[in-house]
Amino acid sequence: MISTAELAVRLFVSLLVVVAVPLSFVLMFRTLDYIALDGLVEEFRNGRGATVRDRGQLNAYFEANETASVTCPHCGAANGENYTYCHTCQAKLDG
Ligand SMILES: [Zn+2]
Repeated sequence: MISTAELAVRLFVSLLVVVAVPLSFVLMFRTLDYIALDGLVEEFRNGRGATVRDRGQLNAYFEANETASVTCPHCGAANGENYTYCHTCQAKLDG
């Protein structure tokens, strides 16, 4: 036989799992959405992000290994010799 106190605890836990946990996830994603639209993104877009172009992560690799590479004419990223398209900006590489 379950006591009234235990029944209350079980009801509380089941309500917590069914309602509170999904609700907290909704609130979390709402909060993340709000933060993402905040001025921080615009600041980055107008500041550093605009002047420093993303060249990917392979430039240092090609330099360190002295492997022949093709530099992208569009973004400056180093690509392998046999690459047809730039791995960073997808521009077509010549040769
Ligand atoms: Zn590129």
